Amino acid sequence: MLRQAVFLDRDGVLNQERGYLHRLADLELIPGVAKAVRRLNDAGMFTVLVSNQSGPARGYYPPSHVDALHERLATLLAAEAGAALERMLYAPTLSPTEGGTHAGYSHWSTWRKPNTGMLVAAAWRFGLDLSASFMVGDKATDIDLARNAGCRGILVQTGFGEQVRSGSYQYTVEPDYLAADLSDAAGWILSAATSW
Ligand SMILES: [Mg+2]
Repeated sequence: MLRQAVFLDRDGVLNQERGYLHRLADLELIPGVAKAVRRLNDAGMFTVLVSNQSGPARGYYPPSHVDALHERLATLLAAEAGAALERMLYAPTLSPTEGGTHAGYSHWSTWRKPNTGMLVAAAWRFGLDLSASFMVGDKATDIDLARNAGCRGILVQTGFGEQVRSGSYQYTVEPDYLAADLSDAAGWILSAATSW
């Protein structure tokens, strides 16, 4: 039987939005996030981080630094609430026209959101039902991704979310649910998931 998943953007959803994180210590959880992930874990939702991380393509840092940030993220989630993300996926690529400069990562990729590559790969690998799954993000591209993949899209108002709603960042989108933060999003997901 296919499983339901919750796909989670990283910056501005799980951790504070601070631009490119050159230092590990700058990755800090948004209050309430660890408990929210734990609720999703306890409800049996398959949780997957899906993040655009163009730092490697821009030559800012190698993918090993992104991996180290994700280790810190996992440690903080576990320490605060015994929460866990079952997989952490990210797209390190960026096409040259968008600013990619590093030879190995400067190309267009199906994994870069709002393209659906990460979700499709996870669905095949872990037996997920995308039409019964959820995508939580703070950017218009996250909601576009939800649409493109056939998931329900939730826009949180942490990170860039508030600016997306006011039309002052990217463009305005209509999510399936507009959440104050990930705690609010998790509550909506769990009630929507049980009535599905
Ligand atoms: Mg984000």
